[in-house]
Amino acid sequence: MSKSGFPLLGIMGGGQLGRMMALAALRMGFKVRFLSPHSSGPMQGLGEQMVGPWTDKDVLQDFVEGCSAITVESEWAPAEEVKAILPEGVALWPSPATLQLIRHKGIQNTTLQKAGLPLPAFCCCASLDEVHNAVEAFGFPVMFKRFEGSYDGYGNATVRFPEEIQQAWDDLAAEDGLLVEAWAPFVRELSVLVCRRADGAHVEYPVVYTEQKDHRCHAVEAPAPSLFPDVEAEARRVALAAVEAVGGVGIMGVELFEMKDGTVLVNELAPRPHNTGHYTIEACHTSQFENHVRAVLGLSLGNPNLRVPAAVMINILGHRSGEAAPDGLDDALAVEGAAIHLYNKPQVRPKRKMGHVTITGDDVKTVRARAEHAASLIQL
Ligand code: ATP
Ligand code: MG
Repeated sequence: MSKSGFPLLGIMGGGQLGRMMALAALRMGFKVRFLSPHSSGPMQGLGEQMVGPWTDKDVLQDFVEGCSAITVESEWAPAEEVKAILPEGVALWPSPATLQLIRHKGIQNTTLQKAGLPLPAFCCCASLDEVHNAVEAFGFPVMFKRFEGSYDGYGNATVRFPEEIQQAWDDLAAEDGLLVEAWAPFVRELSVLVCRRADGAHVEYPVVYTEQKDHRCHAVEAPAPSLFPDVEAEARRVALAAVEAVGGVGIMGVELFEMKDGTVLVNELAPRPHNTGHYTIEACHTSQFENHVRAVLGLSLGNPNLRVPAAVMINILGHRSGEAAPDGLDDALAVEGAAIHLYNKPQVRPKRKMGHVTITGDDVKTVRARAEHAASLIQL
């Protein structure tokens, strides 16, 4: 607890995920402090903002001073460095160990496989020879993935012909090589958020359908339409087991593939709030952000279930480069039931995540059309 008795949450990172965490924390009367290497729009106006080199010991010491708990809003935040200077009794979640397991896609897959979780066949390939062997074993098409540093599909290549192997290797291989994954002929992509506390208490959010455009999340439909109960149960079981396998604490996003035969495969884990959970702010009793804040502070977890029959979230991406200005905002606000979230990013870039729209209602189909419409009206 901070000196005033209200918890002070330290958040490493200054993006939209930290912003929405902070908004949830502030609502409960908690205090927040951000640390980010660069000044950022999303954290403006919310609690204390520290800007500085976030691997620097002195900067980190100032940052953690008086904090009740520290969390990260990005899996790339330097958690090991914070851990090294953390005062007694101050928690850091997720743990650096969890973050390390997840950062490297090869280690992540190997960890999940050892825990008995279903995933696409994969091979951690250290050389081009090993890649050729893996491709031969899996057949075309095949996915090549950079071991570290991927996001929004940057860092992946679908390889369809033998001639493409060399180029994809040159583009994606690091010193330790790259990850080759068998193509998963999924029916659709699902996602489950799991929020877990250090003592193992946990809640799971509804299974949602997530639609990608250009490898980026475009829409989320909650609950996933026409989901068979046994697929739903399996998705929830697999998601929780995956989070337990990496010792996750806080909220974690589990990206899944739904296969034709009703099985699910794990695509990947995100050790933080996830884009497929933004709908929870309006649609669930407790949002993913609030439950994350509660979990890292060791507080009671809230009800994760839907409090409406259906919800749809649509991302608002940038379409140009320059200073952001919300054209069409008033028209979007006039769409019935539209909850508009803009992240206060001063600069827009093509495909940059600038905000999102959520609409709740009686069925996914009608709210989807309205949410798409509202999102299309806003041009940043
Ligand atoms: P993000 O940060 O956007 O979640 P990422 O860059 O870490 O993504 P992945 O989630 O691994 O990348 O892959 C991006 C998308 O590529 C997936 O959502 C899925 O649509 C597709 N994909 C990934 N792996 C496979 C696979 N083995 N078979 C078929 N499609 C795949
Ligand atoms: Mg992904």
